[in-house]
Amino acid sequence: MSNLELHTNDKISQAHKDLRQTFLKGTTLPLEFRRHQLLQVARLAQEKQEAILSALEADLGRHPVEAYLPEIGPIVASALGAVQCLDDWARPENPHISEQWRSNWNTTIHKAPKGVVVIISPWNYPWIITFGPLIGAIAAGCTVLIKPSEHSPACAKLMQDLVSEYLDPRAFRVVQGAVDETAHILSLKWDHIFFTGSTRVGRIVAEAAGKNLTPVTLELGGQCPVFVDGKNTNLSLAAKRILWGKQQNAGQVCVAPNHVFVEKEFEGKLVSAFGEAAKSFWPDGALDAKSNLARIVNKGHFKHLQSLLARTKGLIKGGKTEGLRMEPTFVHNLNVPTDDVLMTSEIFGPILPIISVNSVDEAIENIRSGPTPLVLYVFTEDQEVKNKFIQQTQSGQLIFQETFGQLAVPEIPFGGQGDSGYGAYLGKYSFDTFTHLRGSIDVPLIPEVDAAMALKYPPYNPGSEAF
Ligand code: NAD
Repeated sequence: MSNLELHTNDKISQAHKDLRQTFLKGTTLPLEFRRHQLLQVARLAQEKQEAILSALEADLGRHPVEAYLPEIGPIVASALGAVQCLDDWARPENPHISEQWRSNWNTTIHKAPKGVVVIISPWNYPWIITFGPLIGAIAAGCTVLIKPSEHSPACAKLMQDLVSEYLDPRAFRVVQGAVDETAHILSLKWDHIFFTGSTRVGRIVAEAAGKNLTPVTLELGGQCPVFVDGKNTNLSLAAKRILWGKQQNAGQVCVAPNHVFVEKEFEGKLVSAFGEAAKSFWPDGALDAKSNLARIVNKGHFKHLQSLLARTKGLIKGGKTEGLRMEPTFVHNLNVPTDDVLMTSEIFGPILPIISVNSVDEAIENIRSGPTPLVLYVFTEDQEVKNKFIQQTQSGQLIFQETFGQLAVPEIPFGGQGDSGYGAYLGKYSFDTFTHLRGSIDVPLIPEVDAAMALKYPPYNPGSEAF
């Protein structure tokens, strides 16, 4: 948190007040204003990419490719996509009325901005996780307070500078805060809270929001399981795709594969396939100076990961460390039901437990008895196995034969279910999140309309033909 100047509660309250006034003045309502701000977001990401890459390197030791592809590129693409689609998304709808007696009523669904909203973000993908929802909120016509994580201070500070340089400060502000400041933010009345972070803090946010009946989106932690169907998939390709997903940001990703289920007879082959994949990614070892592996965010989390490895009952393959970096580490010889320490919470690091099952049904049973995953990954070519997972499991998303690919598909909603949260975003779903569907009717004030509704006026006449 070094060098990050936190905002006082008074400053936060003032920002909240200013944003409310801007919203009430209607500043953010015109589509032209929204389009301009969205273009500014794209410009910000494009023009300041060097500064953003440096901040990600400072906070997370992230390689530029791993920083550009999931963070900067998608901000530009989403902002420009929103500019293109805005007219369509924001256009009021006029539902067709089939009943004759109200056929001359004017019926409209207005796409009203929810109002003054707050976005609270974690440290692991500080840019896309903040700007993803921000793009939706701008497109919807809201004013926005952003509260980045204090654990990625270089990114948080840069974000504050860039938002005030590129976006209209009357409508979009960044405040800095840790736990106490965020608690103050949550005590204020918002029209929507968009929170991304751990399940533990998600509960605190939901409780605070409940006091003001504020709608919330909770994008929470994920213990994302993987099932590898040894009989019906290309094991070496599956291992490569799973490991690629696991090593992104050193496993510190909500959608990172958390643990892998595989039928017993294929466990040995899968463990070897992971070894081969690791060799092909890092011929000189994952901790080699030229390797692109990110580091663990801080000492506390690093120690936690080491303590997991010290306490697991499984066989460890890997586990070398250097500074705050840890090589991708596989832990096998784990069976279900497992009470292993690696299965007690989201790992959020480069450790991958591989758990033997007797059958696909046993894997499904195990997934059903755990927390509802943010994402469930299944590697199989067999449509019947796919159908089993579609019909017999619950999760925020269900992804076949790939890890992370879903984040490149804004046409499908991204969001959790149950323990992994509620609400969704990406593409139009982001716009919808910050939009109130305001139903409206405008009934012509003419006698003909009342004649069609004559029955509603007293005196009621039970003897009439309608009864
Ligand atoms: P976190 O929950 O500790 O912090 C998130 C935000 O909440 C931060 O801005 C922090 O300042 C604030 N906060 C922390 N404690 C608080 C408290 N007691 N009261 C009020 N506010 C508080 O999460 P993190 O460690 O920054 O991020 C990692 C977690 O986020 C992981 O669980 C990960 O899976 C999850 N995550 C989820 C998604 C998703 O899209 N579902 C994306 C990224 C990260």
